[in-house]
Amino acid sequence: MKKLTIPAMGILMLFLSACNSGSEKGKAPGKAQDLASNPFMHASTLPFQAPDFTKINDSDFAPAFEEGFKTDSAEIETIANNPEPPTFENTLAAIEKSGELLRRVNGVFNMLSGANTDSVLQKLSEDIAPKLAAQRDAIYLNNKLYKRIETIYQKKDELHLDKESERLLEYYHTEFIRAGANLSTDEKTRLKKLNEEEAGLSAKFTNQLLAAAKAGAFVADNADALKGLSEGALNSAAQDAEAAGEKGKWLLPLQNTTQQPALQSLEDRDTRHRLFEASWNRAEKGDKNDTRPTIERLAEIRAEKASLLGFPNFAAWNLQDQMAKTPEAVQSFLRKLVPPAVAKARKEAGNLQEVINKEKGGFQLEPWDWNYYAEEVRKTRYDLDENQLKPFFELYNVLENGVFYAANQLYGLTFKRRTDIPVYQDDMRVYTVYDKDSSELGLFYCDYFKRDNKSGGAWMSNLVDQSKLLGTKPVIYNVCNFTKPAAGEPALISYDDVTTMFHEFGHALHGFFADQTYPSLSGTSVARDFVELPSQFNEHWAMEPKVFQHYAVNYKTGEPMPRILVDKIRKSQKFNQGYALTEILAAADLDMEWHTIPAGDSIKSVDNFETEALKRTNLDLPQVPPRYRSSYFLHIWANGYAAGYYAYLWSEMLDDDAYNWFRENGGMTQANGQRFRDMILSRGNTEDYNKMFYDFRGHKPDIQPMLEDRGLLN
Ligand SMILES: [Zn+2]
Repeated sequence: MKKLTIPAMGILMLFLSACNSGSEKGKAPGKAQDLASNPFMHASTLPFQAPDFTKINDSDFAPAFEEGFKTDSAEIETIANNPEPPTFENTLAAIEKSGELLRRVNGVFNMLSGANTDSVLQKLSEDIAPKLAAQRDAIYLNNKLYKRIETIYQKKDELHLDKESERLLEYYHTEFIRAGANLSTDEKTRLKKLNEEEAGLSAKFTNQLLAAAKAGAFVADNADALKGLSEGALNSAAQDAEAAGEKGKWLLPLQNTTQQPALQSLEDRDTRHRLFEASWNRAEKGDKNDTRPTIERLAEIRAEKASLLGFPNFAAWNLQDQMAKTPEAVQSFLRKLVPPAVAKARKEAGNLQEVINKEKGGFQLEPWDWNYYAEEVRKTRYDLDENQLKPFFELYNVLENGVFYAANQLYGLTFKRRTDIPVYQDDMRVYTVYDKDSSELGLFYCDYFKRDNKSGGAWMSNLVDQSKLLGTKPVIYNVCNFTKPAAGEPALISYDDVTTMFHEFGHALHGFFADQTYPSLSGTSVARDFVELPSQFNEHWAMEPKVFQHYAVNYKTGEPMPRILVDKIRKSQKFNQGYALTEILAAADLDMEWHTIPAGDSIKSVDNFETEALKRTNLDLPQVPPRYRSSYFLHIWANGYAAGYYAYLWSEMLDDDAYNWFRENGGMTQANGQRFRDMILSRGNTEDYNKMFYDFRGHKPDIQPMLEDRGLLN
């Protein structure tokens, strides 16, 4: 049994809103379908147990899940009712071995639901998600099972377990208690009820927000109001309007965040203002899509759950198994970032005001002006045109001569492309990854191109986890959303895309170097505020001169990128970081404020609460609103980041500090790579994260390198 894998770039959205086109293979789900011929019933016989996509049909998932739930439940009951006295082997190791079928079908299902979905899979994911949650409750609130674990735990000093087994015992013991295993029967009933209500409200929030964002899209009656948008953007705005029944008008759909992409090019100030207001107030209109009553209740429920489980607030309960461990640690971390971020943002605001004054604008900078003037400054100061760079970043050259090359220079890895492994899309690639002694480490898939049946963003996950107990080696995939070139054309990507590739491959390395016995502790199954360390760390090598020179060559001529362009990339990286960091800090702060409310407190006004919270923490800059306002903060109300949004910044502190260790110790050498592999990348969740980091770095995480990297020290 294993916790559901969370793709590292964010939670895999199982409830996709976009309708797919095509690629619906397979027959209608047949009732009497023979399980024996279901491809999930047995481990795949392909190398590394790679799934055989030529044999998998949409109709195979539902019966495989059903059978998986059944066998998993039966296995858990057998373990719980074992007449033998509880031992590590017959209880904990047995739990780790259970649920093989469920693991197998869920791995492929997650991959396809995220990267290649269709209406059958979309419908199925709505059915499966609550069942997976209930399956988890049935295990963690199983009293007999918990008693066995408790008995073993009480005797742990006599058992002489190896270190990893000891960690597994600790892990399950904590997880059971966190889930409520120690509560009375009445309390368990109450908790299940609260869990149920919370799940229902989270789903409601998602639906309300989706509808609110759709209804809140900005509509312009004439094209003049949209001056500044490119022709392509105008065309798609006209198409979007037509699709929404507003033929002859222009429509700008709302993105998740407070700031909207069009705000950087819209010349008309009034339009900018109206677009911003549409974004800011999308879910606060007093109609049925107003999310405020939903989040008031969600906050209440979470506080009550925490109190039931013996904690002063939800954050205190939720952070126990994270690196930060307590709300106080998170708050003190955020407080260190606020002054330099805010100071930098104020300075940036001053610079933008100067531009406005120079152009005789005659107004004070407001949030809807920020990106427009920032873009103006960026262009004049750095003179950086994306189109000049792209010929130097051909996708597969970046992969093989950049991403793979860096892994070779640091860890001695080599890669061999193979075409015998089935994929679900023809433009995917598969590689065998070889360790420095030439032994096989695992299998790597990449699915890089944008499709309309793929979720946005980029992520990594495992199809097969590394585990010595199960005898499996990692099968890992990276998914991105790069623009697919026309047939026969090279795929030229931006520098941002290049960093994304290094990022996701950093997660992959964390998975490939996993060296664990137990799947629950293997590879990337680590705390949320630790999981982005390997990925963000790996981004640093994209700009390493030795690596950069090796991949950044003109795809036609093979010429290296001219020095002047390289310098422009370097310099522009620190631009606008005051704003960027402050808006994230404001969101992280709101998250913590909502989740440190004590039980029994009810919030009367979401807006007042929000205003007061930002004022209290000095994050109430009028020109820098939070990246997400409470009423549209999907991460914390529905996507599993409750009391966890800070994790992005926390991991950034870790990766910048870890990279500094390399800088101080000779940089990119195989000896240094081996040390990082031994102490961080291969360790999974086998040790306390703070100890792991301390042992590697020689001190506790230091925030200075992060401030320096963001250019906040001057
Ligand atoms: Zn990531």
